Amino acid sequence: MNIPEIYASMVFNDKVMRERLPKDIYKAVRKTSKNGTHLELDVANTVAAVMKEWAIHDGFISPTEDGGVIMDFSGKELVKGEPDASSFPSGGLRATFEARGYTAWDPSSPAFVKDGSLYIPTAFCSYGGEALDKKTPLLRSMEALSDAAVKILHLLGSTDVTHVDTTVGSEQEYFLIDKEMYKKRKDLLLTGRTLMGAPAPKGQEMEDHYFGVLKPKVSEYMHELDKELWELGVPAKTKHNEVAPSQHELAPVFQTANVAVDHNQLTMEVMKKVADKFGYACLLHEKPFEGINGSGKHNNWSVSTDTGVNLLDPGKTPGQDLQFLVFLMAVIAAVDEYQEVLRISVATAGNDHRLGGNEAPPAIVSIFVGDELEKVLSSIEEGTSVKGSGKTQMGMGAHVLPHIMRDTTDRNRTSPFAFTGNKFEFRMPGSSLSVADPNIVLNTAVADKLVLFYERLKDVAPSEMDEAVHDLLQEMLKKHKRILFNGNGYTDEWVEEAGRRGLANLASLPDAVPHFISDKSISLFTKHGIYTREEILSRYEIYLENYVKTVHIEALTLLEMVRKDFTTGLVRYMKDVTTEALKKRDLLPDSLCSYESEILKTLDKTSEEIVAAMNRLAEDTSKAEGIADLLEQAKFYHETILAEMDELRFWTDRAEAIIPDEYLPYPPHSVRHPRCEESV
Ligand code: ADP
Ligand code: MG
Repeated sequence: MNIPEIYASMVFNDKVMRERLPKDIYKAVRKTSKNGTHLELDVANTVAAVMKEWAIHDGFISPTEDGGVIMDFSGKELVKGEPDASSFPSGGLRATFEARGYTAWDPSSPAFVKDGSLYIPTAFCSYGGEALDKKTPLLRSMEALSDAAVKILHLLGSTDVTHVDTTVGSEQEYFLIDKEMYKKRKDLLLTGRTLMGAPAPKGQEMEDHYFGVLKPKVSEYMHELDKELWELGVPAKTKHNEVAPSQHELAPVFQTANVAVDHNQLTMEVMKKVADKFGYACLLHEKPFEGINGSGKHNNWSVSTDTGVNLLDPGKTPGQDLQFLVFLMAVIAAVDEYQEVLRISVATAGNDHRLGGNEAPPAIVSIFVGDELEKVLSSIEEGTSVKGSGKTQMGMGAHVLPHIMRDTTDRNRTSPFAFTGNKFEFRMPGSSLSVADPNIVLNTAVADKLVLFYERLKDVAPSEMDEAVHDLLQEMLKKHKRILFNGNGYTDEWVEEAGRRGLANLASLPDAVPHFISDKSISLFTKHGIYTREEILSRYEIYLENYVKTVHIEALTLLEMVRKDFTTGLVRYMKDVTTEALKKRDLLPDSLCSYESEILKTLDKTSEEIVAAMNRLAEDTSKAEGIADLLEQAKFYHETILAEMDELRFWTDRAEAIIPDEYLPYPPHSVRHPRCEESV
């Protein structure tokens, strides 16, 4: 494989534009893309024509006989397209009579050709101008952060910086399972996770059944996945990950947040497509299998200047340390102050199963900075010099701030938000999430703190700046240090300790989401021009709607599986046992048939419970549909429906443990295969 040749071969990127666009047009696009302004129509017309030509003449796209869609594509569509937005969830932002929505090309994210179609990354807004998408607020948040960062950098002496970029690399976890197995389970097919099935007797036995056969082909899959992603300009690197059987991970090279988010969406799509080719199903659900580790997405996040400085890199000189500490503290203060909003940014029905499962970060937001940095921070707080692991760090041109050494301590894998040397890794996002949301919140919250810092420092004389920064850092640390936690986030002690510290523990989506429309949250987003009040309210509704729909579909799927598939197997097995027992009686009239009776008694009793649980769930699922208030409805689904699903599962799992696998019309959740029993 000739990587340089295939890399980004399907992408209308900067290189292609530079080669093909007239110079002045290219410059205009670059400017638009850098400043986030709108394309002029004449520029757009030329770009559209060149884009079209590139796509057709390079043989990526063959126009249809009548000229097809691509032929109608002009600059107008690039600047302002008008697709029908009526089926797009708008959370009340759009009445049906204004079903139109508008799209506008985001020139900072390149267009590409996939499966014979030209794709153009666009922002999407309603007839009334409200953002319906995640891209618009993400771009707004990147601008807000850049503006705030540039101001403070100028104050601290980095006057050559004109723009700051948010950088993101999101590592993506996923499962590959056999497609035939997948297709046989309605729950996996319809909801992405198994809703019933006894846990495996010894942990990860499912390996044999769902995963075992895949292994030889997995590396071919990864190879193909890399290749297809590279063609699309996604700098991906697949790797094996041994946490759960057949769970894998893909780590991209980091990019500008906006492009990284688009690329992550593309990655998820291509993962599924390539899986299909190989006879696999790619599962992106946060918790596909009970009893087996779920999947997340690690959002690595940092900020870099247009002069090439990573602002979360401690750096080599005291001046860089000062900047570093300011930005570090802005992140700490932001994450503490807006912890609820950050938690909401990763809230989905699926992720609720993962957070707090003692395998993924807990639902409590906290920050890990490592021992070395913790020492530096306490020295700032106490106003003393720092002595760290034999390396005494003090002085620097600035006499009040300690110098930072690179941390050598082990990484803390249990922290939801960990400093990893030159970036933060946010580990709460679930595997199916769009990483736009957490990055919107991070950018905005950090921008908010940088604005605050700027206000506090803007009138300080340069000769007193170091002192003033020190005092500010000290004050911020005192206020926000409760968010710092270097210990094990999986323990119950931490839950208690976090409670004492007053940290939020928002275990479920319905618990978390009301904080999204709190005064604090609304004021954060509106102040920085990220969301209007209406845009926040619409998203609040969409969070709840998605949650309600997800759990509703799960409940119906479980009911159908139990009613049709499971019960059929159960009844058939009971019938066979009965028939056999009666036959045996004929032959041996004195036989007690204890074994058969025992099975029948247990299954009979269990079926009573199953019927009762099934009826309760069916009744309450209907009742849930009738609840008018969305939040009340979501709470009902969380507290009642999910609990009743668990109850039903408890009883069917009991029965399933007795019924031989061949009686079930779907592959069992766990595999009680003799070979598995032997292996350790
Ligand atoms: P690991 O965490 O496994 O040691 P790395 O530190 O190399 O691996 O990176 C993990 C992820 O973090 C990768 O996706 C990488 O691109 C991303 N990353 C590295 N540096 C940055 C940065 N400055 N900003 C955003 N993401 C980054
Ligand atoms: Mg990671």
